[in-house]
Amino acid sequence: MQDRDFYQRILGIESPWYVESVELKLADGEIHVHLAHQKLPSWPCPECGVDSKLHDHQPERRWRHLDTCQYQTILHAEPPRSECNEHGVRVVKLPWAEPLGRFTALFEALAIEWLKAASQKAVAEQLRLSWDEIHGILERAVKRGLERRKAEPISHLGVDEKAFRKGHKYLTLVNDLTGTRVLYVAEDRKQSSLDGFWPTLTKEQITGIEAVAMDMWDPYLNSVREHVPDADNKIVFDKFHVAQHLSQGVDQVRRKENKTLRAAGDDRLAGTRYDWLRNPTAMEPKDRREFAELRKSGLKTARAWALKETAMALYGYTYERPARKHFRWWYNWAVRSRLQPMIEVAGMMKRRFENIITYLRHRITNAGSESINAKIQWVKYTARGFRNKQNFIHAIYFHCGGLDLAPRSH
Ligand SMILES: [Zn+2]
Repeated sequence: MQDRDFYQRILGIESPWYVESVELKLADGEIHVHLAHQKLPSWPCPECGVDSKLHDHQPERRWRHLDTCQYQTILHAEPPRSECNEHGVRVVKLPWAEPLGRFTALFEALAIEWLKAASQKAVAEQLRLSWDEIHGILERAVKRGLERRKAEPISHLGVDEKAFRKGHKYLTLVNDLTGTRVLYVAEDRKQSSLDGFWPTLTKEQITGIEAVAMDMWDPYLNSVREHVPDADNKIVFDKFHVAQHLSQGVDQVRRKENKTLRAAGDDRLAGTRYDWLRNPTAMEPKDRREFAELRKSGLKTARAWALKETAMALYGYTYERPARKHFRWWYNWAVRSRLQPMIEVAGMMKRRFENIITYLRHRITNAGSESINAKIQWVKYTARGFRNKQNFIHAIYFHCGGLDLAPRSH
């Protein structure tokens, strides 16, 4: 029969397997391809490959394959089970699918390629798959990819938290800052969230870690200290996180001062919130001149702003000694400023200073994860309609994990 040859060829079915019959169900828009195999007394054990005697056959199973001319194409076969002396009775490896798969390897590979480029919803519709099926394909792809990962050295890590939906749901992410990929995702932002990461590394990988960028967040700090040798010399509090604390201090000073000024009919600070956060060199010349006036005004907000800018000058130093000197001088200025929010930030920076100054040694920030963050936004978007946390976690691995995802047929 011609159609048997045709399917044999397009499926790439090889001896001992062959296409026994092809059944066209026009009304259902389906093609059913029945596979059979030559009689063999022995089959390779799927575990060790040793020729083992045929035990029996599983009942008929079905696999969804790529459509042929818009017809859903379904393979049927009864998989043989071999009996290995060492591994016992096992289903043999099938050339068209992974063990337990309900789709052929080619079909899954196609779905995976599409998922890389389109939303889960669109792929589900196009391939006529249920949400569970599409999520199953994604989940298996991630599992496959994680198992294939090699224990290569990872010198610079970034630990980041990510809000999952609005409210207080968080994920913990560990990024490979040099390879810009996500290594690990866990629910929440507790110490236990990060603790789960370390067992995924080998001893060599852990000792090979040179530096870890993170927020000033004690649960993360504790986890790194417990798992990474010489952690205190390797933890770098993220520069942008430090800047954020300083900016919040400036904003608190501004809000309070604005209230006092406005009560006295002075609205110089009204609507200036974002000016104090921006870099003046990025402003229009007119705005820049106005902002310069404000800064020279002797307002408390202007002093707070100067404190912030001066603190951040720390990051311009090459050597630690002058940087430490700069910080001591700055700290004394800050604590005498009589600006309560800035005094508090200064205190916090002093307590955390040994892991702020490590920046000069390692020069890492979580900004290296920015491209990952942009991708995660996209993942959020393409996973819409599938918003449970597990699906979101799998989608992050899928799109940002740098994983080898596609199944291989045998
Ligand atoms: Zn075996």
